[in-house]
Amino acid sequence: MAKTGHKNRSDDWHDATSLVHGGTIRSQFGEMSEAMFLTSGYAYESAEQAEARFKGDLDGFVYSRYSNPTVAMFEDRMCALEGAQAARGTASGMSAVTASLLSHLKAGDHVVAGRVLFGSCLYVVETLLPRFGVEATLVDGTDLSAWEAAMRTNTKAVFFETPTNPSLELVDVEAVCKIARDAGALSIIDNVFATPMLQKPLELGADIVVYSATKHIDGQGRCLGGIVLGTSEFIDDTFHDFYKHTGPSMSPFNAWVMLKGLETLPLRVAHSCTSAALVADFLAESPKVSRVYYPGRSDHPQHKIANRQMASGGPLVAFELKGGKDGAFKFMNELEIFKITNNLGDSKSLVTHPATTTHKRLGPEGRAAIGITDGMLRLSLGLEDPIDLQADIDRALSA
Ligand SMILES: *Cc1c(COP(=O)(O)O)cnc(C)c1O
Repeated sequence: MAKTGHKNRSDDWHDATSLVHGGTIRSQFGEMSEAMFLTSGYAYESAEQAEARFKGDLDGFVYSRYSNPTVAMFEDRMCALEGAQAARGTASGMSAVTASLLSHLKAGDHVVAGRVLFGSCLYVVETLLPRFGVEATLVDGTDLSAWEAAMRTNTKAVFFETPTNPSLELVDVEAVCKIARDAGALSIIDNVFATPMLQKPLELGADIVVYSATKHIDGQGRCLGGIVLGTSEFIDDTFHDFYKHTGPSMSPFNAWVMLKGLETLPLRVAHSCTSAALVADFLAESPKVSRVYYPGRSDHPQHKIANRQMASGGPLVAFELKGGKDGAFKFMNELEIFKITNNLGDSKSLVTHPATTTHKRLGPEGRAAIGITDGMLRLSLGLEDPIDLQADIDRALSA
């Protein structure tokens, strides 16, 4: 059973086709639905074959810490979607982010990152990397001159997410990747909030894309997972050894769930984006809401960048209630369909109060610096009927 040989055929397929057929490997049984290979190891037909596999002379699977047919199908399907040459599935989004940095950085290197980051990404950049002698500078991601000014001769990586969590600020991917390239640094984009359907960082000039597959790729709140995608030069020659020897591996079970999630990704993301746009407009009309943050609305300060690099406004909406923390809590407690959580990208619509959960660690000053107020809420739109979601919000607002 060959690991590759399917990518070429999907070269001219559109996304929806690649997401159903891309990367499929069939066993001798010809199963229609992709097989789940729950195996840690592989039996060799002979000592010679084992030797050849280890030498790399013979294609094939060796050990599921770094190669497994179900995980390979997920990786190849994601490559087809992203336009990447190679990828490795990981146990979670955070293992993807951490490995995308630690796999190539060394003491004495410098990293520049956007200052509005998913909480754990901020920990990795701001707290973990410096422990190993890698200095980090955090910049206002919307300010191109700040990115330029932060570059040093030892800057080896640039890391950011766009739209950011939770304020849905945008970073100009093309411009920042160019600044990184000119400085000789690799650009690494955490593309979770845009989903792979709406934004293609590699086409915009990024070197590496990372995902928490836990979010829209699974999309049904079941499994943790992640993936790192890039050129074969980076993934096979640099990333692979770190991945193989440190083991942030993806479970074949989770890879199978993600693989099947990809088949419906375009339908799910399109539905959630339609609901998000409706809800954003609805919220903007309410006298109880002081501000709506949605990249798809013309009042978003970076709406032009959204039009340039995103296919739509995305499946998340943030907004600010005039009533502060009390108002936000009352609103959340009144909701019936939206569930209170810190997660996102589920089939169920979700609401998060960043100031007391995901961004609690930053403290009041840290939050104020990046515009997270006590009245701010983040919505992740799921797969329910948008009319019911709007009615749920309407009722909670009037309570
Ligand atoms: C969820 C998330 C992560 C971390 O992913 P896990 O799968 O939870 O480890 C990283 N970045 C962003 C933007 C996320 O939303």
